[in-house]
Amino acid sequence: MPNMSLIKNEMPVQDPKVRSGNFFEVALGYTEAQAIDEANRCLGCKNKPCVSDCPVNVDIPAFIGEIAAGEFEKAYQIITRYNSLPAICGRVCPQETQCEGKCIRGRKGEPVAIGRLERFAADCHNAREEDKKTGLKARAGKSQVAVVGSGPAGLACAGSLAQKGYGVTIFEALHVEGGVLSYGIPEFRLPKTIVQKEIQGLKNMGVEIAVNTVIGKTLTIDELFSTYGYKAVFIGSGAGLPKFMNIPGENLNGVYSANEFLTRINLMKAYMTDSSTPIHRGKKVAVVGGGNVAMDAARCARRLGAEVTIVYRRTEKEIPARLEEVEHAKEEGIVFQFLTSPVNIAGNEKGWVNKIVCQKMALSEPDESGRARPVPLEGSEEEAEVDCVIMAIGTSPNPLIKSTTAGLDTQKWGGIIADEETGQTSRRGIFAGGDAVTGAATVILAMGAGKKAAEAIDAYIKSI
Ligand SMILES: Cc1cc2nc3c(=O)[nH]c(=O)nc-3n(C[C@H](O)[C@H](O)[C@H](O)COP(=O)(O)OP(=O)(O)OC[C@H]3O[C@@H](n4cnc5c(N)ncnc54)[C@H](O)[C@@H]3O)c2cc1C
Repeated sequence: MPNMSLIKNEMPVQDPKVRSGNFFEVALGYTEAQAIDEANRCLGCKNKPCVSDCPVNVDIPAFIGEIAAGEFEKAYQIITRYNSLPAICGRVCPQETQCEGKCIRGRKGEPVAIGRLERFAADCHNAREEDKKTGLKARAGKSQVAVVGSGPAGLACAGSLAQKGYGVTIFEALHVEGGVLSYGIPEFRLPKTIVQKEIQGLKNMGVEIAVNTVIGKTLTIDELFSTYGYKAVFIGSGAGLPKFMNIPGENLNGVYSANEFLTRINLMKAYMTDSSTPIHRGKKVAVVGGGNVAMDAARCARRLGAEVTIVYRRTEKEIPARLEEVEHAKEEGIVFQFLTSPVNIAGNEKGWVNKIVCQKMALSEPDESGRARPVPLEGSEEEAEVDCVIMAIGTSPNPLIKSTTAGLDTQKWGGIIADEETGQTSRRGIFAGGDAVTGAATVILAMGAGKKAAEAIDAYIKSI
């Protein structure tokens, strides 16, 4: 008999008062008993609506069925047929708008906690199989496919190609692999040991990763073909270029882009007491924006000891961040100012930020994004004392690859133009996917694009 409870098994979490002072993981994961109980809520629908909304089409009812039967390793093996990064996706995927959004149990009550169960299966495997080699090896000989960027898109593309027997080399600009998984999403949401473990799984399959290699500077894409003999290139270079509002004061000391702030904290470990990475530890911090990036920046600043206010120009209803992140931020004492937008940042005589001036907004007809357009209310300016401002209002693709690759077509805003199904770009043999094509999106969409491109690259190489 299925478990007909209308609510999910709750995820055990660190106490908000304790966790707002540390960087340890917030969500602690299900016990075996909780996982089996939750898995028994799945009805095992024959038409599998949950699978249709998973960009990598994991056979969700099948893996949940194995968890219900206590066969945790079998569950993991099912997931990894479709998804090479399950411990990561189980933690950060927006399941509420994807697989769980389609779950039948969600019609009367809460959907099955698919993400938590995915995380459970992956964590069980990782705990049991310490760094065991998969036995799969890329074809001997030199690499045939070059992948630019080691974020979820590049990793998924490389993993799928390695499974097919191709030699693959990933070229990564930073000194650590993982893209946003390593430099953006904080330790307390996604521990870096988990990211490294899942990347190690790909290396065990034969994927090579060359870090500290900026394509477009160290080497060009044309050189990858002509000098190094790669047959195809996949571009998964993400959208790491921060946007600013172009308001006065954004160049003051103490004003960060969220990307820089998070990179210093996550990649360069500025939060650790023995770290040599400089970081401005503000006491009163304003974070501008309402997405996951804004929540992550705010929660990091809180953990560094600040009073933090999130300034968002629409209402709570429109906030793009995951509900869970907003709730966690509130529990940790972060204040939200909705319908508010900065117009000016002021500084002291030494050039350090000391004030932010914000304007009240009202919502009007939907804009091109389909969301209600915020319009400023004249004369509603208010100033607040702050000693740090973090801008988290979006990112776009870095123009370096476009500017060094002749014939590679891009959108006006910088996104590489690529076929949705195959990732084929305007240049023969060059494929692209993930945030570099769509602009800032999600881990699983980037992985889906990487996987689809791997199929197309396989077909392309066989055809030449
Ligand atoms: C702070 C933050 C929090 C987020 N939270 C979530 C979340 O909770 N859930 C979710 O689903 N999504 C989240 N996202 C979005 C998600 O992380 C991205 O959509 C996803 O990482 C995109 O993957 P990608 O592989 O396309 O690019 P990226 O992850 O950006 O990886 C691109 C990689 O390419 C490298 N690169 C760039 N240019 C070059 C070059 N010229 N040569 C070599 N290497 C290069 C970069 O250094 C980087 O490592 C978040 C994003 C941020 C910034």
